[in-house]
Amino acid sequence: MGRSQSSAVSRNPQQSQPAPSSVAPPPPPPPMPSPEAIDASPFLALGVSRAVVTAVVQEGYTEPTPIQLAVIPALLTGKDVLACAQTGTGKTAAFVLPLLDQLMTSRGNGRIRALVLTPTRELAAQIAAHCGAYGRHLPLRNAVIYGGVGQGKQEDALRRSPDILVATPGRLLDLISQGIVRLDAIEHFVLDEADRMLDMGFVHDVRRITALLPKQRQTLLFSATMPSEIEQLTRTILIDPVRVAVKPPATTAELIDQSVVFVERNDKRAVLEKVLGEPDVSRAIIFTRTKHGANRLREQLEKAGIDAGVIHGNKSQGARERALEAFRAGSTRVLVATDIAARGIDVDGVSHVINYDLPEVAEAYVHRIGRTARAGASGRAISFCDGDDRAYLRQIERLIRKEIPTLFGDRPAEPARSEAPRPPMGGAHRGGGRPRFAGRRY
Ligand code: AMP
Repeated sequence: MGRSQSSAVSRNPQQSQPAPSSVAPPPPPPPMPSPEAIDASPFLALGVSRAVVTAVVQEGYTEPTPIQLAVIPALLTGKDVLACAQTGTGKTAAFVLPLLDQLMTSRGNGRIRALVLTPTRELAAQIAAHCGAYGRHLPLRNAVIYGGVGQGKQEDALRRSPDILVATPGRLLDLISQGIVRLDAIEHFVLDEADRMLDMGFVHDVRRITALLPKQRQTLLFSATMPSEIEQLTRTILIDPVRVAVKPPATTAELIDQSVVFVERNDKRAVLEKVLGEPDVSRAIIFTRTKHGANRLREQLEKAGIDAGVIHGNKSQGARERALEAFRAGSTRVLVATDIAARGIDVDGVSHVINYDLPEVAEAYVHRIGRTARAGASGRAISFCDGDDRAYLRQIERLIRKEIPTLFGDRPAEPARSEAPRPPMGGAHRGGGRPRFAGRRY
């Protein structure tokens, strides 16, 4: 799925919203399923209402994912939940489905009753789109607010009394300080990608926001990893939570065929062009370490006749949405991205994730490769490792507890003494004097 939505409100059931000009119009709603198909859905047995199950069947979900099996019943009992799960596990539906049903059982009062806080604009738009899709048969409204765009449309959306607000922290605090948003009627609070909030420096904002919420509420916290700062946060915002971990945070999805290419820096581009020329590369995300590197690589690919989009933190929201939509629609086959922009991108059918640069933080590898093999599909992750990247590769392999098979190139022997990773951005001396990868066939 993964329909995206910009800063607009969405009203259900089945009204279509005027699409923001930068976003393609939403596809028509899927046909209504038969009563038998709804009766047969295992989501009913989890306690999800018939109206929501109808939408879930329309989305084509036949079986709940493990995180949904664990989280949905717990949330429906009103408990707080602490869930360790990555994107790609079906975690959005795990919290949105029970949220919708719970909002239907309490009385709407024209005020925001559920807040979903998420670190990036893309995730916010995706979550709001999922709220709209799963809630298409319910008379609930959602609004989405995030920075980087004008606030006018978001204000309009807020004036239409949404039940659910999906927000990034900065814009939310902005609108709160202007008196446009109030959080004193919140009954359900979802903190999504808490570890990412931490990485992006939002923890202080999150604390300011949680301090404004009513004490009496249900809270759900999702995090792909559980560093000690998140553990600390959970102690202050959750009460006696049900703990759910569907997969240890440091393992990578079995369905992803991972491999590494040992290549010198100057040869990376030629290898990349070869890889992208393979017929099975139907949709690829290429990760670079820096925004500048992403722009440069995109230009080089364009020169080589490979049409590519690019998203990173310096791109305007409109440019990011356009690049993502073109990629999602299949009009560009290749998307070059940095970590900051790419986390949580929910695009079906990504056949390849290519780490043109290995990430400096090993956990980012897990998030990156999770862009492929989504919800049961298979996918490939190919990582380029140059001489300076080897310490990063070792950290990644330690984290995922396995050696990534070599696709080509020679895996260097382990150094005798421990090698510390280089500081961020590497040095000016890259690539000098090492044996080169040139001349191999691939
Ligand atoms: P998420 O982890 O929430 O980002 O979801 C990842 C992808 O899985 C999205 O494209 C969802 O539409 C899809 N998805 C969620 N739940 C299911 C399910 N039970 N069966 C099949 N696909 C699902």
